Amino acid sequence: MRSITILGATGSVGTSTLDLVEREPDRFAVEALTAYSNVEGLAAAARRTRAKIAVIGDAARYQALKEALAGSDVEVAAGAPAIIEAAARGADWTMAAIVGLAGLEPVMAALGQGKALALANKESLVSAGSIMIRAAESSGARLLPVDSEHNAVFQCYEPEPGRVSRIILTASGGPFRTWTSEQMRAVTPAQAVKHPNWSMGAKISVDSATMMNKGLELIEAHHLFPVGADRLEVLVHPQSVVHSMVEYIDGSVLAQLGSPDMRVPIAHALAWPDRMATPCQRLDLAAVGKLEFEAPDFDRFPALALAKAALAAGGARPAVLNAANETAVAAFLAGEIGFLDIAAIVAEVLAQYEPLAPQTLSDVVAIDVEARHKAASVMRRMAA
Ligand code: NAD
Ligand code: MG
Repeated sequence: MRSITILGATGSVGTSTLDLVEREPDRFAVEALTAYSNVEGLAAAARRTRAKIAVIGDAARYQALKEALAGSDVEVAAGAPAIIEAAARGADWTMAAIVGLAGLEPVMAALGQGKALALANKESLVSAGSIMIRAAESSGARLLPVDSEHNAVFQCYEPEPGRVSRIILTASGGPFRTWTSEQMRAVTPAQAVKHPNWSMGAKISVDSATMMNKGLELIEAHHLFPVGADRLEVLVHPQSVVHSMVEYIDGSVLAQLGSPDMRVPIAHALAWPDRMATPCQRLDLAAVGKLEFEAPDFDRFPALALAKAALAAGGARPAVLNAANETAVAAFLAGEIGFLDIAAIVAEVLAQYEPLAPQTLSDVVAIDVEARHKAASVMRRMAA
């Protein structure tokens, strides 16, 4: 029996994880489930899985969660510190599926336990990559990549130094792959969250539409697979069948393929180093017929260029990029700024200042807070 904790259990990745965990009740026992505001979804999942504890991030909803779980054996807690405590309960396997840098402290708490950490929450690795990798090394925690591209690379990657010549991350290109910048100017949040191949949370869907998502994934790959930033490439592949590739020095290229269903990489991380069955649609290449590939367009998708530059510059740049992007995406989703403003705001914040490279978790948090303030003031100036 493996004990399982899911941070962000009510989200897209969280519910896909629950779906797999609940299919094998003899194999997995749920320790803790957390969510930010969805009391009903959290309580229902906690009852179904007989979780030991359910934690709601929004402290104002403590009473509501308590009532929703009345009469069950599930312990109830609320607030951000309670999520961190839940992450530190030492489950054998933890899914980090909170969206944004809000997931960083719970991720660090889970890493400190020296167990398996399945990482979907890419923003934490983008902003605090070296600190997280160091924490995993010192506790002996095993980082298992869940992002479909990184999970694909993980399945194809031989870690011996000197073997890998390139890592190629595939990108669907998002819903505006063929649009001109002029057409993208008027994009609405509803259009941006409608991804052609994947069903995902709102923030990552917008990131896919700007291609910032692929930029964040380049930085994520840099921390997970230390081959050098100049060996990481992006290739647009609209069908999302080839999930990524690893090229070796002899010219061999290994790829992982599958239907675009996050339960495939999640199952890989959940069963690793074993495998488990999933109900996911089998890949029928004859039905797919044709796989297409094209080079990314850094002019129409400036967010990708900004992330690439932040990766090359290193230091605090990735944390600034991520914070400015989270702030701008939230404003776009709230209807406060236009689609093209997202990358413009990130560029402006990056141009404004250059904090020192973070050494500790609190350095990262301070950089994040400051970059969010700067992004907010750039937006106020744009609005005036
Ligand atoms: P989502 O918006 O569907 O779910 C987010 C979860 O985080 C919810 O359970 C929510 O309650 C919780 N949450 C949000 N803000 C919080 C806060 N401040 N404190 C505590 N909990 C909070 O997002 P998602 O699409 O499931 O994505 C989750 C993460 O996984 C993101 O980092 C995303 O980039 C990554 N990811 C997602 C997919 C996908 O297919 N959805 C694929 C690859 C990577
Ligand atoms: Mg991905």
